[in-house]
Amino acid sequence: MVYKILYLYPDLLDLYGDSGNIEVLKYRLQKRGIECQVDTYSILEDKPNFSDYNLIFMGGGADREQSILSEDLVKYKEDIISAIDKGVFVLLICGGFQLFGKYYKDADGQVIDGLGIFDYYTVSGGKRNRNIGNIIIESQIDGEPYKVIGFENHGGITYDISNSFGKILYKNPNNTYDFEGFMLDNVIGTYLHGPLLSKNPALADYIIKIGLKCKNKKEIELEPLDDELENKCRDVLITQFL
Ligand code: GLN
Repeated sequence: MVYKILYLYPDLLDLYGDSGNIEVLKYRLQKRGIECQVDTYSILEDKPNFSDYNLIFMGGGADREQSILSEDLVKYKEDIISAIDKGVFVLLICGGFQLFGKYYKDADGQVIDGLGIFDYYTVSGGKRNRNIGNIIIESQIDGEPYKVIGFENHGGITYDISNSFGKILYKNPNNTYDFEGFMLDNVIGTYLHGPLLSKNPALADYIIKIGLKCKNKKEIELEPLDDELENKCRDVLITQFL
């Protein structure tokens, strides 16, 4: 069994350790004897077969990088919709999350087109008005409540989100909204860097499980891993912030 990851624009979108999410997935797959293949795609490279993957991943980036790649990304709207419809998991962090919505109006007031796959849109609060800090949200992962811990640093605020990723339990006061991110069964868009998955092993396993189900057409039971250390780190952070 192979778990195939398509990492979009890694040369432009990798803020605050986003590529660490790929390392976490690789580690948790290999511990279970599942091979992990990571392919990358960036501007002017050959078009990937989006539906061939278990997971499509996009990280965060500065406004400038987002404006550079937007024209290339929107060419693939139909291919990406088709992959999502087939159940491929899509994990989007920050700048990547913004670009799956209608548009992002950046800190200079320039409108960067998004894929428009989802109805939300994002407007920057300006260069001096950023949401920065540790953040904890209460999400539902695999039908269970789970505290997702991360770190955010972005100027854009996303509006018109139909299904949020979770309710914010802890944030810096510079963040003015109460619900975070976007979630469907096989899509998560979030402002949480961290890297997200190193702080949230249950979320990493959910992404592995749903991605495997999509290609194997059946639920795959994942062997539990020893997450004692990860959970101790989580306890420290949760006690510190909540
Ligand atoms: N440039 C975007 C913003 O500032 C996204 C930043 C990010 O990906 N961390 O909102």
